[in-house]
Amino acid sequence: MLCVREKFLPFAQPDVSQAEIDAVSEVIASGWWTTGPKVREFEQRFADYVGAKHAVAVNSATAAMHLALEAIGLERGDEVITTAYTFAATAEVIRYFDATPILVDIDPVTLNIDVSQIESAVTEKTKAILPVHVAGQAADLDAIQSIADKHGLYVIEDAAHALPTLYKGKMIGSVSDFTAFSFYVTKTLATGEGGMITTDNDEWANRCHVMCLHGISKDAWKRYTSEGSWYYEIIAPGFKYNLTDIAGALGLVQLERLGDMNRRRQEIATQYNVAFAENPAVESPALVGDSTHPYHLYILRLNLDTITLDRNQFINELRNLNIGTSVHWIPLHIHPYYRDTYGYVPEDFPVAYGQYQRVVSLPIYSAMSDEDVEDVISAVDKVVKTCVQ
Ligand SMILES: *Cc1c(COP(=O)(O)O)cnc(C)c1O
Repeated sequence: MLCVREKFLPFAQPDVSQAEIDAVSEVIASGWWTTGPKVREFEQRFADYVGAKHAVAVNSATAAMHLALEAIGLERGDEVITTAYTFAATAEVIRYFDATPILVDIDPVTLNIDVSQIESAVTEKTKAILPVHVAGQAADLDAIQSIADKHGLYVIEDAAHALPTLYKGKMIGSVSDFTAFSFYVTKTLATGEGGMITTDNDEWANRCHVMCLHGISKDAWKRYTSEGSWYYEIIAPGFKYNLTDIAGALGLVQLERLGDMNRRRQEIATQYNVAFAENPAVESPALVGDSTHPYHLYILRLNLDTITLDRNQFINELRNLNIGTSVHWIPLHIHPYYRDTYGYVPEDFPVAYGQYQRVVSLPIYSAMSDEDVEDVISAVDKVVKTCVQ
């Protein structure tokens, strides 16, 4: 094989078949572009798929988490416990209410929230726990739920990566008070922009439906159909978070293909695991018994004491070999906003900070060819070989 592949391999790409193109074309030709029958069908199918009573489609996971916190009545000054090791969205939705994100450090093996540190973070102001399933492997939800039960807290899962994930035999989406999914273009089910809230609670589902479209009571989207009416009532100052039917049509096709796409990710992960098992300079993602791993991300960890270059140099070397990568994540507490607002120093969450320095997310998506996978493996080997201590 060539030492440097000819074309840059992007870190992530959606999996596009003719079915997505046809489904979107059909919606465009129909003239019904925004929320409508495709979105309602997508909600129904999605709820059935994860085994939830209700699914409410929105235009992002960020919106999904915002609406869940709104539905539980989060207020200014309240606290929500979450992880230091996550994307911007997880904590910013807490700040939307002028509430306080209480960050907790992570488990060094799974990179998920360290459940042994949650209870000491609970105060009288705590309203909810917001765990993240990093890369898609579920956090320890039983432990989280028992702390929540003991202290009367809600559990809202950031499941942006966790589709499909089985936690102790149950689908993520059917476990906690609320689960938020993302259909951002890089995620395991993609609609460009999009998200879903699942819950078994009728009242919360209704509240999310109403608040995702201006706080207008009862099926606001129907007012321009023949069964609809011009009359509506605003019952609260809601948001503009509704999903379009163009995205809904994409979601329906991608949900249909999710099993196949997941199998391809598993194949790629297995190839990576086998290839990297021999290599003392890198560590593959650790698998825990309680959860399946959908491999939204394949987070490789560098054993920095065995090599002469750091993570950033490693990424640059892969870039020179035409392999795109990413880093998940720069922990929240070292970002200027959180650092300056709450006075954090990097060592406040030593595990998150330490792991951050050794992580590299490799390309893993169902549209990758076998050659692409081989190119990633040989690029990693090549970079590592030239820099063993
Ligand atoms: C992608 C992502 C989000 C945000 O999803 P959007 O649909 O873009 O709002 C939230 N949390 C995590 C962990 C993510 O990776």
